[in-house]
Amino acid sequence: MSTLTFYTLLPQAIWVAFMFAYGACVGSLINVLVYRLPRGMGVVRPASRCPSCQTRLTFRENIPVLGWILLRGRCRFCKQRISPEYPIVETVVGLLFVLLYLVFYGFDELAPRSALAMLQPEWAMNGLGSTWPILLVYLILVGSLVAITLIDARTAQIPLVLVWTPALVALLIHTAHAAFVQVRHGNPAFLQPGIGWKLADGTRWFAAPGHVWSLPTAGVHDWWFVGSAMGGAAGLAIAVVLLELGLIRRSFADYDEWEKAERARQASESSTSHQDEPADADAPVAGAADDAEIWIQYPHARREMLKEIAFVALPLGLGVVGAWFAPWLVEQTVGPWKQASPYAPTLVPPINVPLWLSVLSGVLAGYLFGGGIVWAIRILGSLAFGKEALGLGDVHLVAAIGACAGWIDAVLGFFGAAFVGLAWTLLAGLMRGKLGRTLPYGPYIAIATLLIIIAKPGVEWFLGRLTGMQINLP
Ligand SMILES: [Zn+2]
Repeated sequence: MSTLTFYTLLPQAIWVAFMFAYGACVGSLINVLVYRLPRGMGVVRPASRCPSCQTRLTFRENIPVLGWILLRGRCRFCKQRISPEYPIVETVVGLLFVLLYLVFYGFDELAPRSALAMLQPEWAMNGLGSTWPILLVYLILVGSLVAITLIDARTAQIPLVLVWTPALVALLIHTAHAAFVQVRHGNPAFLQPGIGWKLADGTRWFAAPGHVWSLPTAGVHDWWFVGSAMGGAAGLAIAVVLLELGLIRRSFADYDEWEKAERARQASESSTSHQDEPADADAPVAGAADDAEIWIQYPHARREMLKEIAFVALPLGLGVVGAWFAPWLVEQTVGPWKQASPYAPTLVPPINVPLWLSVLSGVLAGYLFGGGIVWAIRILGSLAFGKEALGLGDVHLVAAIGACAGWIDAVLGFFGAAFVGLAWTLLAGLMRGKLGRTLPYGPYIAIATLLIIIAKPGVEWFLGRLTGMQINLP
């Protein structure tokens, strides 16, 4: 055990306090988003008001957590109760931010060689000073996941701004950060197994093999990976443009019309059936069919999947073309692949993938592969069962997780969600109606992803036990 000195404890205490305050402010923003996005209201304006008497909150009352305590949970003017959900969300997000900070950097400083310090991912060993952009991406992802959980649990909708924002942020921050590292240290040239990347100036960018970034990226010679990610991204962009132009048809475009007609039909059917056979008490009562049931009855789910396959075919096809084209292009422009790697017996391309391009490809691949796998399951499930399986919101969600944290975390989060859902159902059973009903899939994905980000060594151990292999996730 190491002795904790004042000089270790004080900076850590300051960081923890800062992370909590920052998280509480983000939690406050999440409260605004959760209230306003489903209602189609603006986020910045109007200023925060009491929902019942419209009195504007003062600056002090707007302070996260403390504002609610100052008011003792009631509006200063009309004395209406203010939901404790607001300070609870602010506190939870504050604690999540503190936890991420501690897992990435804090535990290692406070208790090196302890079990908690083992949670530190390898990229974070470079220290907060040179990896804070990665922390920032994770914080924005986690904040979005909290907001998505609260909104999806209530409305079964995932607002697209909440998935596009973290994806775009990841694309910009990861790529810019990688470019900065490359300018500062040169391109990671050769892999030094177990030690790290030897950089051009002789220093080492500490990371284990394959762990040069916080997400899986193209290896130094994997031009096929770069080409595949770029081709897939181009295919996605073209598909979106074709969709906007109406050249690819939007799936479920006639759904609203169908639902209206179907409800009208059920209503008239029930009124006649009640007149004709009033004794039949077991017959389903019209109008009792809630949203979930009527959505499942939509008869054209298989047909609609064909439209979605037309969309998915573009990124998939160009991804395959890119995987073949990029190595060919490198060979054509830079020369034949004859440079032997000291660590690989095969011939390798004469130039390495620049770090910024490698990381950019990792972000794009995470987005495309994460979203793609969910979409593939949606299409196969809908074709098999004839009703819509998984929402497109879940596709967007897992894609965004892939952009921020890489394709492995996205896929694990998606499949781990089934375990979280099972745990929730068991818990709801034990609590007897206090938690109630099953949730949409989005919150389960969000919770599973959070667990994977925080406890990756635990996940690796679990997967290792499951498969009997040594698992080391980037
Ligand atoms: Zn009021």
